Amino acid sequence: MNKYLEQDIKFLPGVGPKRAELFNKELNIYTVEDLLYFFPYKYIDRTRFYTIKEIDPSLPNIQVRGKITRYTKEGKKPKERLIAKFTDGTGIIDLVFFQGLKFVLENYEPGKEYIILGKPNVYNGSLNIIHPDIEAVDKMEGQINASLQPFYNTTEKLKSNFITSRTIQKFQNNLWKDLKQRIDEKLPDYLLKRHNLPGLHESLFNIHFPQSPEALRRAQFRLKFEELFLIQLDLLKQKYNRYHKLDGLIFGKVGETFNNFYSHYLPFSLTNAQKKVIKEIRKDLGSGKQMNRLVQGDVGSGKTLVALMTMLIAIDNGFQSCMMAPTEILATQHYNSIKKMLGDMPVTIELLTGSTPKKKRTNIAENLTNGSLHILIGTHAVIEDTVRFDNLGFVIIDEQHRFGVGQRAKLWEKNPQTPHVLVMSATPIPRTLAMTLYGDLDISVIDELPPGRKPIKTIHYYDSKRLVMFGFLRQQIELGRQIYIVYPLIKESEKLDYKDLEDGCEAIARAFPPPKYVMSVVHGKMKANEKEYAMRLFKEGKTQIMVATTVIEVGVDVPNASVMVIESAERFGLSQLHQLRGRVGRGADQSYCILMTSYKLSEDARKRIEAMVNTSDGFEIAELDLKLRGPGDLEGTQQSGLAFDLKIANLAKDTQILQFSRDSATEVLENDPTLSKPENKILVETLGQTRNKEVNWGQIS
Ligand code: ADP
Ligand code: MG
Repeated sequence: MNKYLEQDIKFLPGVGPKRAELFNKELNIYTVEDLLYFFPYKYIDRTRFYTIKEIDPSLPNIQVRGKITRYTKEGKKPKERLIAKFTDGTGIIDLVFFQGLKFVLENYEPGKEYIILGKPNVYNGSLNIIHPDIEAVDKMEGQINASLQPFYNTTEKLKSNFITSRTIQKFQNNLWKDLKQRIDEKLPDYLLKRHNLPGLHESLFNIHFPQSPEALRRAQFRLKFEELFLIQLDLLKQKYNRYHKLDGLIFGKVGETFNNFYSHYLPFSLTNAQKKVIKEIRKDLGSGKQMNRLVQGDVGSGKTLVALMTMLIAIDNGFQSCMMAPTEILATQHYNSIKKMLGDMPVTIELLTGSTPKKKRTNIAENLTNGSLHILIGTHAVIEDTVRFDNLGFVIIDEQHRFGVGQRAKLWEKNPQTPHVLVMSATPIPRTLAMTLYGDLDISVIDELPPGRKPIKTIHYYDSKRLVMFGFLRQQIELGRQIYIVYPLIKESEKLDYKDLEDGCEAIARAFPPPKYVMSVVHGKMKANEKEYAMRLFKEGKTQIMVATTVIEVGVDVPNASVMVIESAERFGLSQLHQLRGRVGRGADQSYCILMTSYKLSEDARKRIEAMVNTSDGFEIAELDLKLRGPGDLEGTQQSGLAFDLKIANLAKDTQILQFSRDSATEVLENDPTLSKPENKILVETLGQTRNKEVNWGQIS
């Protein structure tokens, strides 16, 4: 490693301790290397100069070379603004400042030559630029020339301390001037040659100081490739390692338990997709290698049954199974529906959650260690250290994105042998994202819903149609149906949201007065047992309306509920809306999803609502969600740590580079599975470095 890059950022010329602290806090930049890897978010062509005469307000960013003639102040504090008259001899343009007036007055003198850059507007008939970027012509000398000027993200706090994009560019400049040796390469030479990639040193230089558009493009490609390639290599290496090192438990036979269930207890015939996935799992289980498989299936595709039937195979081979769900409600629901499907079969099954009484816990622990308990279903409680199995062979993790890779690993630790692992996700995610999020897993997809389901009708109403909506709900209740009404709950505005929920409940109670109508209310602030109770009343049909925050999002199953009303639907993400919609349409009746929104919709919100109305395909929706929001905001990616700091690649946009990097990583490992050939030594070192920096999985829960 280059010692210079490891230095504290405060030692970089011009930075010092005070700014260093701001860098730490605001941008997470601690070392010189962190700064080096703090990349511009855009570039502006600085080779083209405009004369003021040429400017028209439809132009994007433009630059002009000229002088400030005088300053005037307009308006009263706090709306005071400073206007600098700027001319190049062909006309006059106003430079307008709302903030940092003192700084501007002290630093930019009338009469001196400056280059200004910004977006032109027209205000009261005259041209202006608000908060232009200003650079003295004489100061431009001595700087590394960049025809494409980089722009770096800053924060309000930084700006008020005079650290602007331009300041950061200066520090980058100092860094490169100060850098005495070349930056160590991270990829093997043969890869660079084969893919015609520029070296790391050149790429990093060009990302900050593009020498030409072509050099920038190549630098971006190289750095994106490197970033994605190393992730893929790491994931695939883990996969290969497991495959080559860990002998899997062999579930060689499908025996009495499975067959008995199949012939006498199966409540309906399996869909072809369910059959296909069970077959894939069976093959893994018998292969002698440890299984690590993700089953993706849209809400309602029947994953629980797949889970159950594969656990029966474990029983037939003398092993215990454990199924983990992210919430108590879900774990309980799995337990109940599996118990029901098992009927009087001689299979033992227990539920373990945070609220399992101590006595019951002890009893469960006993039966787990003496091997008489076949299936344990539960929440996080099942990974506590006190829970020990006699012979755990099969682990199922439902809605895995809420658990994270580290917790998966924790389940393995508690067992002498590594169990087979099945991950089930009801959040369809685009293939590219799956490749990264679950890159070390094999993937099965249940791409078919059980027969007889009527497609859900999705309707968008503006808030003014509330009475119409209420009328429709009354009709449905007349028909014996039940209804969900969901309110958004977003952490930052939790208080406001609860207010919305309360107001909503009042309005609903007025429109649906008891005793004719009864409603259940469930929200995150209730105690678990209160929630359970309210849910149960709804499930048993004792209440017709369930008003809830998004706690009901995942997995809740009430077949008689046929209407999902989503309030302030514009505030939900697309995948979340789709998840919520999946709560209905589980019975034989026509189901409806009603999206209530205000009139004011952002462009993106409108697209989300339109997509919901137009399609019910979870994968299509996931692709669009990824496009609209970018992977960082996607449900699940944050928790799993994968929004991790991708510094330059974008999982939504760089899908081709992602595929290319995965193929390339596969090829490298096929030629050298253990990365022990001399030419790959550099990769082992690089992976070691990146791993040290990686997310601390322990923090994610
Ligand atoms: P999810 O994939 O969302 O977990 P579930 O396992 O909860 O879906 O199944 C949704 C509903 O479909 C349940 O009521 C379940 O009993 C039913 N179901 C599952 N498989 C079939 C099938 N092959 N035929 C008919 N109904 C099925
Ligand atoms: Mg489910």
